[in-house]
Amino acid sequence: MWKGEEELPMGAWFLGPKSEQAGVWQEVINYIFQDYAHWRKNYFPEDPLILGRAQRRSHDVWFDKLSNELDFVLNQLKADYPFYSPRYLAHMISETSMPGIMGYFAGMLYNPNNVSDEAAPVTVKLEIEAGKMIAGMLGYDTDKSWSHITSGGTIANMEALWLARQTQWIPVMVAELCREESIAFQVGLPNGDSKDIREVPVATLLNLTLDERLNIPERLAAQCKSDDAHQWLEDSFQSSRYNVGKKGVGLYRDVGVEPVILVSEAAHYSIRKIANLLGFGDDQVIPMPVDNNFRLSIPKLEEAILGMSASQTIVAVVGIMGTTEEGAVDPLVDIEKTRKKYEKEKCKSFWLHADAAWGGYLRTLYIDAPEQSDGAGKEAFENEDIEFIHLADSVTIDPHKLGYIPYPSGVINFKDKRSVLYARQKAPYILDQTSANFFDTRVLDEAIGPYIIEGSKPGAAALATWLTHRTIPLHRHGHGKIIRQSLAGAQRLYQLINEAQFKNTRLTIRTLTQPDTNVVCYLVLLNGASLKENNTINRGVYETFSLRTEDKRHLMPYDHAFFVSRTQIRCEQYSWESVGDILISYGFTKEEYLREGLFILRSVVMNPWLEQSKAVDAEYLDDFVKFLVLKATKIAESLIASPLAV
Ligand SMILES: *Cc1c(COP(=O)(O)O)cnc(C)c1O
Repeated sequence: MWKGEEELPMGAWFLGPKSEQAGVWQEVINYIFQDYAHWRKNYFPEDPLILGRAQRRSHDVWFDKLSNELDFVLNQLKADYPFYSPRYLAHMISETSMPGIMGYFAGMLYNPNNVSDEAAPVTVKLEIEAGKMIAGMLGYDTDKSWSHITSGGTIANMEALWLARQTQWIPVMVAELCREESIAFQVGLPNGDSKDIREVPVATLLNLTLDERLNIPERLAAQCKSDDAHQWLEDSFQSSRYNVGKKGVGLYRDVGVEPVILVSEAAHYSIRKIANLLGFGDDQVIPMPVDNNFRLSIPKLEEAILGMSASQTIVAVVGIMGTTEEGAVDPLVDIEKTRKKYEKEKCKSFWLHADAAWGGYLRTLYIDAPEQSDGAGKEAFENEDIEFIHLADSVTIDPHKLGYIPYPSGVINFKDKRSVLYARQKAPYILDQTSANFFDTRVLDEAIGPYIIEGSKPGAAALATWLTHRTIPLHRHGHGKIIRQSLAGAQRLYQLINEAQFKNTRLTIRTLTQPDTNVVCYLVLLNGASLKENNTINRGVYETFSLRTEDKRHLMPYDHAFFVSRTQIRCEQYSWESVGDILISYGFTKEEYLREGLFILRSVVMNPWLEQSKAVDAEYLDDFVKFLVLKATKIAESLIASPLAV
């Protein structure tokens, strides 16, 4: 055991399914509020009270009204899902941590706006610090990288692809400048050669390595040996006809290239939405087939990349570290190898983005606690793609998912903070105009607002994220404990499902894949039934584990013993090439698949109490599988009795 171990008790971090920690929560909430109220009182104590007792008494009627409405809505909230319960085995949500909620509550009272470091001197600093904690956990060099909090993974992914686009055009802008000013300037090509930038074709300039894209302006400024070289460069970028931010994505067409983004068929739908918003268009996202584990197929990726036509330019390749539906982890290390091959053989590179909105926190399992030497806990999980997540140029991670922090908290991490400079927007009220030159990254240690998509944003989210990671540290014996037991729970559920026995021998239950992380997908199969009939059975099972019925009636949670979620494998998303093997193994045909799709049940196993509950003989996963078998039998047998119901 590592010596700090006993200071990090997982049971203390959450309220508990029965509000076991209600006492201490009440104390802390009270303390935060008292402290805040005193802060107000002590600010200019000689200022008079504005509201006297007599006047406050006259407010009773309004407070009664508030009470009524509040009671109404508190009562309504009970119709929500019991996310905290070990019986909730459904979506990517669970308990929220005590420091997450307390931090948010404190931040909410003070209500700083992190769009501006001037308006939020405390919480912008916390946001930058929280970003560094996360970037360090992911394996980035925290002096070179830059991270900040977003409203979620969607905006984080969008910033990544936005900067992939912005940085693509730096060499093109510089080449134009060098031609106009007759400057001979050597540029490093992806295959290791170097060449006068004026002679490099635009299709190559668009696909230099990120490092070279970002080095070029600095090297050119140095070569010019002039004090105002930076200003001159910035001005020339501002007026360049190849400034993609100013001129728009029509530039790609103007120079005769077609921009594409490559990502697996299992991509979160936000990637298409982003391509749409960034002006590329949904169709420029090229879906790559997946293997039987729903991981991006490397042979297919390689074929697509090496087979790119000369007029296509890869804006970015996205690896998904924990797909939303299956929890599958893409082979990032092999994607990186493919990139190296592309650089060598085709003299082109691309921006590599890791969408680790779901799986990013698994990397806590690779982080030693300070002063820890025994390496304990290391054997629990091995996934080199998670381990080497820092190979990516940018990483999305969602603290509001496996960070157990309240919404909204997503984080985008950029490996090289210089990238972010190409997002800078100048709003007179958020940017200090006296700040250093355009290329000076020191401003990124203090300000966030000028470099991001969002405007006003809660400092409270920064406080919540900071306080959580300070007190539940991002290493194997801190946050890693939650992650480890969640992975163990998923493996156990996987095993229980595969061992489940039905009395009716026509029935079985199958898992979709062995989970890479903590999402388990499964379905009930009735031997001899069509895919359509099977979908009906599984939809029926889903309805018994959900508050939403097909006819959209909303039920109350009290009479539901367990909750699961569902997903559908459909031909619009998954090609037959990707899922054919799996469907055939269930006994279905391609025609059936194309017509019906496959309805599957999905359980995200992330409740922090699943392990601890065993100590009091509560075996929630065992009970769930038994219950599932019972319900599925009932539903399937009623279908056998009246097949016309389909
Ligand atoms: C959840 C998720 C997103 C989107 O994140 P939001 O926080 O919902 O915006 C993106 N990618 C993946 C893989 C996700 O799981």
